[in-house]
Amino acid sequence: MTVFAADYAGASVRPSPNHGERAGGRKPDMIILHYTGMGTADGALSWLCREESQVSSHYFVHEDGRVVQLVPEERRAWHAGKSSWAGETDINSCSIGIEIANPGHPGGLPDFPDKQIEAVAELCRDCGARWNIPPERVLGHSDVAPIRKVDPGENFPWEKLHAGEVGHWIDPTPISGGRFFQLGESGQPIEALQSMLSLYGYNIEITGIFCERTKGVVEAFQRHFRPQLVDGIADFSTIDTLHRLLKALPKYS
Ligand SMILES: [Zn+2]
Repeated sequence: MTVFAADYAGASVRPSPNHGERAGGRKPDMIILHYTGMGTADGALSWLCREESQVSSHYFVHEDGRVVQLVPEERRAWHAGKSSWAGETDINSCSIGIEIANPGHPGGLPDFPDKQIEAVAELCRDCGARWNIPPERVLGHSDVAPIRKVDPGENFPWEKLHAGEVGHWIDPTPISGGRFFQLGESGQPIEALQSMLSLYGYNIEITGIFCERTKGVVEAFQRHFRPQLVDGIADFSTIDTLHRLLKALPKYS
């Protein structure tokens, strides 16, 4: 396997054979964050470097903050699978994938150490500056593959990343009472909710019916932006947080 020079000065290199050409010569304009979801970091890293796994990422961040590069940034790594964001369905061709060592949901959602999150933030700032990636296009795997994927999970500290000038974040509207929408309901407010989720980038059809897919997308949104309660119910806090995030996007302000 060809050894290559790290694109990020802070990374050591351990090449994975699992990569290809970015379709149409695309350049990365998104960063997708994952957790490994495995018991040990070394086990996860070995898996990403084995041909039989058919998966990889550009970067791997250990719990202690060490960064390893597996695939050159100009190549297409295989981390997102069947995914979609803002109409784009070949997420691997337009993203940089970062695997963050953490046992995830199977391991009871342990915290991400500060050193690790600082390392992820620095890596994202570096990639973001070199590829000119907008903050709102630093996303979780669950954002681009709702229902199918739940990483990096509701315990991932997006707020800390944002304090390190990475990603899009506003403090979620506090959970309170009031009108809410859930599975099985239909009508104009559901249509409005679906429209807002779609405008933000989520892959959702605007049908006016609160179906399983809608519930899954609401959960994905909550996991990232209103992590206190991930229940797939569009309560006032969820809808208001989404509305405020949309208003904070440069293209709509
Ligand atoms: Zn993932």
